[in-house]
Amino acid sequence: MKILTDLHTHTVANTHAYSTLMENAVYAHKTGIEAIAITDHAPGMPDGAHRWHFLNQPVLPREIEGVKILRGAEVDIKHVDGTLDLSDDYMAVLDWVILSFHKPSCEDIGTKTQRTECYIKHLSNPQIDMLGHCGSPIFDFDIPAVIDAAKAYDKVIEINENTFNIRADNIPICREIALECAKKGVRISVDSDAHFCYHIGNFTNAISMLQEIDFPEELIVNSNWAKLEKYLNSRLSGKKFI
Ligand SMILES: [Zn+2]
Ligand SMILES: [Zn+2]
Repeated sequence: MKILTDLHTHTVANTHAYSTLMENAVYAHKTGIEAIAITDHAPGMPDGAHRWHFLNQPVLPREIEGVKILRGAEVDIKHVDGTLDLSDDYMAVLDWVILSFHKPSCEDIGTKTQRTECYIKHLSNPQIDMLGHCGSPIFDFDIPAVIDAAKAYDKVIEINENTFNIRADNIPICREIALECAKKGVRISVDSDAHFCYHIGNFTNAISMLQEIDFPEELIVNSNWAKLEKYLNSRLSGKKFI
């Protein structure tokens, strides 16, 4: 199982990450990664990037050091009522928007039912592309209902390498989510969530888990650039990578 693109990477636009976009691209190129999404945390995180960081991304080249660059964000659910930390008009200029729950920025995590409704509501938003690292027991939700919604709106569920390195309590739920995606034919993306360039393209533990459960490779959206580009340009949301 080979994964040659990485759709979740951070830069110094968040102070708890340590590499520039240039350093990320250079390292990605050196290790054979064909495309990266730049997905810094949006303003709701204590060190989230300013909203202009997102709005101005169209100035970035489509390719740096031979690596395709997807303009993106990791947007936070600020409140289980569905409030996000970046508005649709800012997301509209981006190629790849991840939606995540994080403890430091979520003012009200609500109940399991509310989180389920919140995820389903945002999966219907054409600006949102993927649910990020959603295996946390703190933010649990009705897995079959959310995976059904991902299927209906043709969205992607993330399997995040950091789950295996820094969020061990998320592993059982992450596995359950992957099994549900396999069962229902829902696409996943396998990402590093790198906060330093050396971690880009490292998916070792995520791949081991997927191999263990015999996850179908055709459902991995980011195996390589050709496959990813095809998905990006066929999205139900109508968003294109041009
Ligand atoms: Zn982070
Ligand atoms: Zn995150």
